Amino acid sequence: MATALVEDYITRPSNPLSRFYRKIVEGERISREEAVEIYQSYDLLSIGILADTARIVRTPEAVRNHVYWVHNFHINPTNICEANCRFCSFKKGPKSPFAYVMSVDDVVEMVNKYPMKDELSEFHVVSGLYDQQGLAYYRDLFVALKKNFPHVHIKGLTAVELDYIAKLEGIPVEEVLTILKEAGLGSLPGGGAEVFAERVRQLVCVDKIPAAEWLRIHGLAHQMGMQSNATLLAGLGETPEERIDHILAIREQQDKTGGFMTFIPLNCYYDNNAVDASNALTGVENLKNFAISRILLDNVPHIKSFWIHIGEKLSQVSLSFGVDDIDGTVVQEKIAHAAGTDTSQALTKAELINMIHKAGKIPVERDTVYNIIRVYDSVNA
Ligand code: SF4
Repeated sequence: MATALVEDYITRPSNPLSRFYRKIVEGERISREEAVEIYQSYDLLSIGILADTARIVRTPEAVRNHVYWVHNFHINPTNICEANCRFCSFKKGPKSPFAYVMSVDDVVEMVNKYPMKDELSEFHVVSGLYDQQGLAYYRDLFVALKKNFPHVHIKGLTAVELDYIAKLEGIPVEEVLTILKEAGLGSLPGGGAEVFAERVRQLVCVDKIPAAEWLRIHGLAHQMGMQSNATLLAGLGETPEERIDHILAIREQQDKTGGFMTFIPLNCYYDNNAVDASNALTGVENLKNFAISRILLDNVPHIKSFWIHIGEKLSQVSLSFGVDDIDGTVVQEKIAHAAGTDTSQALTKAELINMIHKAGKIPVERDTVYNIIRVYDSVNA
């Protein structure tokens, strides 16, 4: 699987991680205890080799060097939110001078002003929990987006938002999903998962639905034919074991309903919020989170590093730690930047392509559900 030099390094008898290499090559599942052992190792190179091997053995040869990205546009209809997540720097109270609310027409007008709107393939729609934007608002919004931009897939509303809308309207989440799917909703983003451990949720996002409900809503969407993503927001004071348990909960759900496309390990930022910045992840921990996700999630096709959170350089390194997706062009990211992310607000296509090429990979523009739009190999770059 690996080059001879790399194989020699990972399989040498003195390497305590060598037995995991053999298990991964043979397609055997890695257990919780084994994951903890890998995570605790200081041998970052071996961890990277394990993750890259897991990526390689689970990827068809023809697309093994592909790194995916999507031409997407983030839409956050309001920053007013009833919840009080301690890590959130985005939310505002309704009376805040910085609060904003976008009507359906405002959103359509905003997209219309984007010069490359005809090339977009995805809207990523997430927002605050705001009682003036209930089911009717989102139904109208999705209908309007589909009418004006029929070529763009709508990935929208976290499980937390769907649960909020269902409670607001007094109807089951299943009904909300059915109505919004008819209106044009194509898939669910992975947000709102944070860290599944109840200990951590009680500390930082007590208003949010518990892990079991987050997973149930994604399972419902999968059963209705909609795929989804899943995230981990690390840096909230969780332990490595709690990170691993979070990833294993996704693996268990995926065994049952099979609709997760991508797992996205994120890291918290600490400006303008109430989480202690001493919890910040190191670059090594970020890489370990990508790697252990790829190693454990033998049933989820893609691992994404969100360049807007970790920057372009670490994104490039992550491509040797099991990652095969770096999100997209984004356009107007508000949530991570409110918390102090110092990366760009957007990257152009050319910048994304260049970033992937320089890491020795083949950039591939995809749509939301991983249909290939264009391969930027050396011939047609
Ligand atoms: S993270 Fe989401 S649910 Fe929590 S306060 Fe911020 S906007 Fe609201």
